[in-house]
Amino acid sequence: MPPTKKVLLVFLPSESGVDGARSLYSEKEITPLLKWFNRSLRTIIKQSQFAIPPLSLMILSSLEVPGVEQSICDMRFEEFPYNEKWDLVGISVQTGMAKNAFALADKLRCAGIPVALGGAHVTLFAESCSPHADVLVPGEADDLWKEVLTDLAAGMLKPLYRAETFPDLGRSRPVSKTSLIKSRYFTTNLIQTGRGCQYSCDFCNVHLLNGHTLRRRAIADVFSEVARFQKEDSRIFFFVDDSINADPAYALELFRKLTPLKIRWFGQATTTLGQQHELLETFANSGCQALLVGIESIEAKSRSAHKKNQNRAGELVRAITTIREAGISLYGSFIYGLDGDTIDTPAAILDFITETKLDVPGINILRPTPGTQVFERLREEGRLLFDPLDITAYRYSFGQEMLYLPKNIPLDAFIESYSAMTRKVFTMKNSVIRGLSSPRAKSAVLLFNLFYTHLYGLSRQDLQHQREKSRA
Ligand code: SF4
Repeated sequence: MPPTKKVLLVFLPSESGVDGARSLYSEKEITPLLKWFNRSLRTIIKQSQFAIPPLSLMILSSLEVPGVEQSICDMRFEEFPYNEKWDLVGISVQTGMAKNAFALADKLRCAGIPVALGGAHVTLFAESCSPHADVLVPGEADDLWKEVLTDLAAGMLKPLYRAETFPDLGRSRPVSKTSLIKSRYFTTNLIQTGRGCQYSCDFCNVHLLNGHTLRRRAIADVFSEVARFQKEDSRIFFFVDDSINADPAYALELFRKLTPLKIRWFGQATTTLGQQHELLETFANSGCQALLVGIESIEAKSRSAHKKNQNRAGELVRAITTIREAGISLYGSFIYGLDGDTIDTPAAILDFITETKLDVPGINILRPTPGTQVFERLREEGRLLFDPLDITAYRYSFGQEMLYLPKNIPLDAFIESYSAMTRKVFTMKNSVIRGLSSPRAKSAVLLFNLFYTHLYGLSRQDLQHQREKSRA
């Protein structure tokens, strides 16, 4: 029998400018109490950055092919195991980590180790990735990876594996956690019920990567996965779907079935949930603790400029109030700097947060990610502030620097108004109030708000540096 082929799947840390390891204050100037506070926050930040395992690699490592053995290296926690022999290394490439991924791939290939590259960046920019890979796997790799492993076992690897269609998620593909070191993570209970999004928000790449058609896994498969995961890890579940309520009939059936398992879960939803009363009640009964909702903008002009067409701005307050009244905490994500925004937008966002009592507000600056429609538009309009080919500049990160010129607000005034807004929203006092008044998951809400108080402080510092640099 030929020797077993060893495959390592690698996940790299992202290169966020706000890496959570920096202190908000200079260690020299602060009191011991503040020093202790900063140190504790940094620990929380590190843990929250490292919270969950890479689901895509969990899925791929669960595929079984005779003669092949797979494991995962999560480089957020460990060094690359150079001392072992690998027959193939697969690297998941996101735009934010592409530079490091290419450097690792080049090093491994120089040492004679074949490298396969896949992930979102490879899907969108396969051509620019090919000099760094022996094998390219653009697109969703659920079926393709099995082909790669089969060819590896046969000694017949091809340079490109590309599917013509999206995988049929209705086919059973049980996900296993055997390649994970569970204690590293906040939870390992990640569940994906489907992929795809019917909307076309121009700043988002989900519809480009996963298509416009909602594809769903069989409810029986999801149920048995949840039941199995619960036995292996009793911590909270995270449903990673972009909107868990996108297919209400499916979600209703699934979460009714899951209710007797008495899990606790987080997820992401659209504010339409506020009008889906039966589903909302079912979510609350099935253990939903908190949901992230993408509000993005309360300015009607911005919503239409960026094709954020679901839910009208006027319906948002009622929807959020209804969801919170059902006993579910809400993380509401905003983007400031969209094309309909003006210098008055921050005041409207502040009023909105006060009126809705959002448990965790997240106020981002627009991040034009390469490959998205908004990136192309800003490039054509000459509004990008860095070289469009510089993949390091256009990483997805926390929003600590401006990557483009806002349409209606001069850059200086924009930075000033954004900083003033986050200074008002994220304070210790507001963190405690939000934690105490949240419907569920009070400690998580408190920690998130404290974390953001720290993080937005770093963001203000970085924006200030950028402003000083541009003036120099
Ligand atoms: S932002 Fe949300 S709703 Fe809009 S395209 Fe992306 S996943 Fe879909």
